[in-house]
Amino acid sequence: MSTDDDIDTPPDDEERHRRLLDETDYDTDLGLELARDAQRVTAGELSEAAFYRRYHDRIVEEFEMDDREIDLPDPDALAAGEGGDGGVGDGSGDAGGFLDRLGDALEGFDPDDGESRRSVMKKGAAAGALALGGLGSTGGAGPGDGTAAGAAGSGEEGDGTRWGMTINLNNCDGCLACMVACDQEHNLSRGANWMYVFAFEDENQGEETNFLPRTCQHCTDSPCTKVCPVGARHTREEDGLVLTDYDICIGCRYCEVSCPYGVNYFQWGEPDVPESEIDDDHQIDDRGRWVGSRPPEGVMGKCTFCVDRQDGQMGEEKIGTTACEEACTMDAIHFGDLNDPESPPNRHLREYRESQENDRSDYPNRKEHTVSTFQLLEERGTDPNVTFVGNAPSQDARQVDGPVTYEEMGLTDNRKEVLDQGAEAAGGETA
Ligand code: SF4
Ligand code: SF4
Ligand code: SF4
Repeated sequence: MSTDDDIDTPPDDEERHRRLLDETDYDTDLGLELARDAQRVTAGELSEAAFYRRYHDRIVEEFEMDDREIDLPDPDALAAGEGGDGGVGDGSGDAGGFLDRLGDALEGFDPDDGESRRSVMKKGAAAGALALGGLGSTGGAGPGDGTAAGAAGSGEEGDGTRWGMTINLNNCDGCLACMVACDQEHNLSRGANWMYVFAFEDENQGEETNFLPRTCQHCTDSPCTKVCPVGARHTREEDGLVLTDYDICIGCRYCEVSCPYGVNYFQWGEPDVPESEIDDDHQIDDRGRWVGSRPPEGVMGKCTFCVDRQDGQMGEEKIGTTACEEACTMDAIHFGDLNDPESPPNRHLREYRESQENDRSDYPNRKEHTVSTFQLLEERGTDPNVTFVGNAPSQDARQVDGPVTYEEMGLTDNRKEVLDQGAEAAGGETA
């Protein structure tokens, strides 16, 4: 039977999430409950309709609207009270291992220039943002139909484009070039690492240091879009990108606590790069919505799968490419249309599976050839559009220093500290 405890949030993490939401002027308990139940929805333990009904009134009371991206069934059935708790899983799902801890530990790292936090999150400011958001959402595919990645997300070949990645962990040597490229291309503020490379050791994988580059997973069934009360976090219908409309986001941080992967970065203060230095082309997508480059103050940001490139704003030749992929000299990152069998991520997977050994002649740092593949926290039911080649970190994996430090690359990071010190440090700021 499905119960409210099916998706457990470890007490330390709940405490960290509570602290994080307490920094906003919005309802902390509501955010925590929404996050937990959105994960139950993706895990098949709660129906979308039941989730919608359970929180609708409270969301309207708190935000004066409910614009969550929910895939609702027949409205008549909903009104009649049908659509209760859905499929029932065993509830445990999550092994509570390294990947979970990585996701948990990633939260709470916000670029902070020392500005007053509360000053950027007053509800008064939200009203203006909502008005702009309403205009912004009239120009095309808006949030709400929940079908963006459609059939392709379930592993079937779908129509249209579905952007995704194959990341080959056997090839990655932890050089951090992808992090730098993303940081620079998107004008990110210090500490907002949309791409993040974990270095870890795992006694079940020999003595080598292993690496795991982590972007937003652009989940087909994303908890973050289900909790956003104002519809800022949404799935782009035309290609499955999960994006944040910066005009609409009110900085409630509900998406951040709902994401199992810890990929969201809240922009506390004035961004390091002013808007005047960023071309509109890199910020406004082909629907006319402000979803690209770094977010403004008081707004949530994360990897966009380089939406400006996909919209042709950097030239036709950059469509189907990303900055991190381009910067990787080890051929570890492969981006493209997952619906196209000949796209780089599909081709890499196929060719790598067919090959017998990893080509190490020019790449001595590459690891042995292993063809196992996995998705991060697959059991959560989020259906990520990122697939990894290599061995998944086990519960015994632990984060270590990599061969290249973040400081050397001009990056800021304090995640390892958090992993080492747990919840105590997790509320800390970027150095
Ligand atoms: S990984 Fe990205 S799409 Fe998936 S829940 Fe987190 S923020 Fe949303
Ligand atoms: S995108 Fe903005 S408004 Fe939506 S949940 Fe995230 S922080 Fe809140
Ligand atoms: S896909 Fe683009 S936004 Fe995402 S991590 Fe790579 S460079 Fe950054």
